Amino acid sequence: MSNAKGKAEAETCPVYKKCGGCQLRNLSYPEQLSFKQAKVIGLLKEFGRVEPIIGMENPCHYRNKVQAAFYTDRRGKIISGVYQSGTHRVVGIDSCLIEDETADKIIVAVRKLLPSFKMKTYDEDARRGFLRHVLVKRGFATNQVMLVLVTATPVFPSKNNFVKAIRAQFPEITTIVQNINPNPTNLVLGERENILFGKGYIEDVLCGCRFRISPRSFYQINPVQTEVLYGKAIEFAGLKGSETVLDAYCGVGTIGIIAAKRGAGRVIGVELNGDAVRDAIRNARANDLKNIRFFKGDAGDFMLAASEEEERPDVVFMDPPRAGSSRKFLSALIEMNPKTVVYISCNPETLARDLRFLRDQSSYKVRRILPVDMFPHTAHVETVVLMTKK
Ligand code: SAH
Repeated sequence: MSNAKGKAEAETCPVYKKCGGCQLRNLSYPEQLSFKQAKVIGLLKEFGRVEPIIGMENPCHYRNKVQAAFYTDRRGKIISGVYQSGTHRVVGIDSCLIEDETADKIIVAVRKLLPSFKMKTYDEDARRGFLRHVLVKRGFATNQVMLVLVTATPVFPSKNNFVKAIRAQFPEITTIVQNINPNPTNLVLGERENILFGKGYIEDVLCGCRFRISPRSFYQINPVQTEVLYGKAIEFAGLKGSETVLDAYCGVGTIGIIAAKRGAGRVIGVELNGDAVRDAIRNARANDLKNIRFFKGDAGDFMLAASEEEERPDVVFMDPPRAGSSRKFLSALIEMNPKTVVYISCNPETLARDLRFLRDQSSYKVRRILPVDMFPHTAHVETVVLMTKK
């Protein structure tokens, strides 16, 4: 592809440089895929052949979760958008090529409503004001929409009228939550929540299973590619029907629940975030699964304890955060000795480090390496790896 075309694509986004969210927007989509393929090959070729990356058919507006920071400039104009990379300056964004279009429209509508409700945006330096962030999540399969208003203080004077006004414009909003974050922090969400409308969560469907999503629990942000990714992970596991499966770093229980639906005999999940564990337990129930249990805790601690209690799963799925897994986890995994390990990674650097440890310390051998593009236009790449005993 020519450079001219890459430039033209980058130019379709007016804030491409300032935002910094789409690091690869200067490349065409096929070029982005080649770039990611080469990156994974570079980091993982010592473990075997890297299969061709699975890209998206339509790599636009795939983000089901959109977050905007709010700011009022010196002339009193309200801006909503993202922090300029590496700063706390808000870059105004009304629509984004990778974000859900309904979510973007809702954020603009919230911004336009603020003056008539005399709602002030929060000023980080002066630590004054009310509205800090707006978060929208949409279940692509169910079309349920959650609006979260993150405020610095709990008192929300005209909340009922505000809820009425935004719902009149967007009847598709199924729940509205006020999240209170009084702390001087980089974290968007605080601990306290008030449900202003609806159930306080939305649901989505992935691989035929239903999932509940709370404001604070982790959920994959590209549901189209998540189905592809989980489909491959389950295929790699080669479930026959009676296996015991461990889902480590399980979030709201997605992979374990899908494995249980596809016939796993018994499933155990472990996850650090308490909200996510609560959602996972409810998700198992909502999907009529009884052979599944979720535990809250550090995955490494859990593995060690489980292995000492002679827990012997046949298959371990592991899907750690960007920092990768821990020595403790990997050592306990070796001790546990499952036939099959499926490692799902959002960071090929830490994946390579962990695979090296397993290669040097155990008889696990990498059988398949498959990159999946979960985050088009960004530099991130997801990889699924299958390991079995030599
Ligand atoms: N498998 C899930 C979640 C993957 S994201 C899915 O696909 O949706 C990684 C998850 O690991 C997050 O939910 C995060 O809360 C959790 N996590 C982070 N550190 C952890 C630790 N030390 N022990 C257990 N879980 C952890």
